[in-house]
Amino acid sequence: MMKIFKTQRTLKDYLSSIQGEFEVGFVPTMGSLHQGHLSLIQNAKKRCDIVVCSIFVNPTQFNKVSDFTNYPKDSLEDIELLQTAGCDILFLPNDVNEVYQNEEKVSLELGNIVNVLEGEHRPGHFDGVIRVVKLLFDIVQPDKAFFGLKDFQQFLVIQKMAKVLNMEIEVLGCDIIREDNGLAMSSRNKRLSNIELKNALVLQKALHHCKNNFGKIGLQDLQAECFGILQKESEPEYFEICDAESLLPITEESHSENIRALTATSIGEIRLIDNIEIV
Ligand code: AMP
Repeated sequence: MMKIFKTQRTLKDYLSSIQGEFEVGFVPTMGSLHQGHLSLIQNAKKRCDIVVCSIFVNPTQFNKVSDFTNYPKDSLEDIELLQTAGCDILFLPNDVNEVYQNEEKVSLELGNIVNVLEGEHRPGHFDGVIRVVKLLFDIVQPDKAFFGLKDFQQFLVIQKMAKVLNMEIEVLGCDIIREDNGLAMSSRNKRLSNIELKNALVLQKALHHCKNNFGKIGLQDLQAECFGILQKESEPEYFEICDAESLLPITEESHSENIRALTATSIGEIRLIDNIEIV
């Protein structure tokens, strides 16, 4: 049976009674769970003895109030899904203060990776993500933490945060889980109408166009073509081809070995992000 803790004190007490003995894996989420989240649980189960998941819709990382209030919430279904997936422990705080009490604010220098792409287009977003993940890491004190590469920039930011704070936590990135038609699974997909779900396939189209034509035409033309593909069915914010570690844009002169294309676009009211490994 999965154990559910609603307060950080009871969770900490329980974890301190088993820590040291078992390797603890942690999967932080905002609920409204789908196969993408469950794949993180499966990865954690493979690599750790005990899997802790948290469900907390973190208000400080939303830069739009409407996005926060409309964020889908269904904890009963989530609990069932986690139980079936074999999660051992769920941290399900009832209110914001349960997580943020006793917060010691730190200011971190994480460089370019927090300022570009999502950092530029969603001011304050990563401040909120860093605050909540640091708090959750301090509460759970896992050995390993599992993040989806769907939020590629978030994964890099958390990995760097753990390093800069000398946390003894291995931050691991897990593959993007997609629908059969290629659409990356996301809690926000639930808010798309049938027509919008079709239009959302444009992200895949643009990312694959980029991968298939990389090296065949100039970078600026390629980027403009991908942006143009997005514009046909959505309102793109960015489409960038970046070094996968620094997130600096690739130029014809750069010699990156890991390159990724990352994009954010809105389908009606719903903002979606996705990315693809180019090389
Ligand atoms: P969220 O609930 O959106 O905050 O996501 C919680 C975790 O699930 C994050 O590490 C996400 O990157 C990950 N995640 C969300 N969607 C997917 C997906 N389609 N494939 C893999 N991981 C995902």
